[in-house]
Amino acid sequence: MRIAIAQVSHETNTFSSELTDQAAFSIRSWIEGEEILRRHRGVRDYIGGMIDEAEALGGIELLPTFAAITSPSGYIRSETWAEIKRRVLDGLKAAMPFDAICLELHGAGVAESTGDIEGDLLRTLRLEFGTAMPIAATLDLHGNITERMIDNADMLFGVKEYPHVDMYDRGRDAIQNLGRMLRGALNPRMTLTRLPMVIPTTTTFHGPLKAVNARCAAWEAKPGIVHCAAYHGFPYADSPATCVSVIAIADGDEALAQKATRDVADFIWNQREVFAVSLPGAAEGLETALSCPESPVIVNETSDNPGAGAPGDGTWLLAEMLRRNVAGTCFAHLADAEAVAAAHQAGEGARIRVRLGGKVDVRHGTPLDVEAEVVMNTRCRFITSSPMGKGGERDYGLSTRLRIGNVDVIVTELKSQLLDDEMLKLHGMPMGRYKVIAIKSSQHFRAFFETAAARIVTVDTPGISTFNFDNFAFTSSVKYFYPLTE
Ligand SMILES: [Zn+2]
Repeated sequence: MRIAIAQVSHETNTFSSELTDQAAFSIRSWIEGEEILRRHRGVRDYIGGMIDEAEALGGIELLPTFAAITSPSGYIRSETWAEIKRRVLDGLKAAMPFDAICLELHGAGVAESTGDIEGDLLRTLRLEFGTAMPIAATLDLHGNITERMIDNADMLFGVKEYPHVDMYDRGRDAIQNLGRMLRGALNPRMTLTRLPMVIPTTTTFHGPLKAVNARCAAWEAKPGIVHCAAYHGFPYADSPATCVSVIAIADGDEALAQKATRDVADFIWNQREVFAVSLPGAAEGLETALSCPESPVIVNETSDNPGAGAPGDGTWLLAEMLRRNVAGTCFAHLADAEAVAAAHQAGEGARIRVRLGGKVDVRHGTPLDVEAEVVMNTRCRFITSSPMGKGGERDYGLSTRLRIGNVDVIVTELKSQLLDDEMLKLHGMPMGRYKVIAIKSSQHFRAFFETAAARIVTVDTPGISTFNFDNFAFTSSVKYFYPLTE
């Protein structure tokens, strides 16, 4: 069997001022052919799972075509989206003949020209290769799933955990079930139930969404159900696609799949009030963290999460930390290419005056004028050890470790969320040295830090990934959804 693979992944925060173009994708991945397999082999991610499953099953040849992914950011430019579609199509045509298509998609991609890039791409592939060509895709749990996506794919496999520690398993699922389909051992019937609601970016490691996963798992344990996944959706995409949803796949029995999606959807809807949580601001959260007897305490600023499209240069929490100036506290990390350049120009050991952060937009605080010692300059490149995507290379450009008063601050050229302690170690900052480690992430950091840290305190400051939906002027159907409208 020959299975063509491609990756098109972007989570679009339509409230971001940073438009996404080809250069933005090139920072992380805009690659073709064998380079795709080389980069993902041995990595605990979607394509890593596809590669391992194809090898484990035997008799499957993967044909890598085109792979584009970048950090969440604002609208994908129309011309960039057209170019991505063209590259996927051209790559697939060049790889012919093949027996099936397997894609890594996200589900919450929005271009200037379409509110549903995944539906647009799947529809394009259906029209080109016909309904007899099996198409499977993996999706992110933050995908905003549309009928168009369901209508133009045979099987969609969403990650169920947030942090997404099961990307690898969903990649394996996609290849395994395409193999069954091609052998005539599976006749997938897929259904979708969309709910008129949005929820903040909430973990599945505990709480109500863990219970939702248990409900999905109970359905998957029933004969005939191949897959059942709840999608939290991505609330920061102001698009008609945006919502919470459930997908189920049954073998030959659409009514059974529909029963599963409706049951899980009802289960979520009936407890919709529990997803609204009130989080402390920077001052209150830091107070809690500093008074905690154990250490280290992770303070995550969920509202400026680069993993949700926020700039990662916000200064609300950093300003509060610098004001308190407590020894044994650090911030890991802020994105600010100008500050990094100034530190590298001055050199290690120098004292510099620098404007730090708050430069991308006005929502995430103002730049801080600080005097800092340049403790260390380096290139922020390492292999991640987080269970989420373990083995993958991360490269955030040049970086610096500044000492501002008593506070250590890592600054990188490129934005990202902290997933493990590799960046801390790289900058000579072992976790054990700190009482409080401030980071920018919503939930993905939990895959590593939930066991590595003594405690986690989440703070919510003004920003484009805040839990407080009142901060956004939604214009799409989202404004009529719960909790924006009762
Ligand atoms: Zn996600």
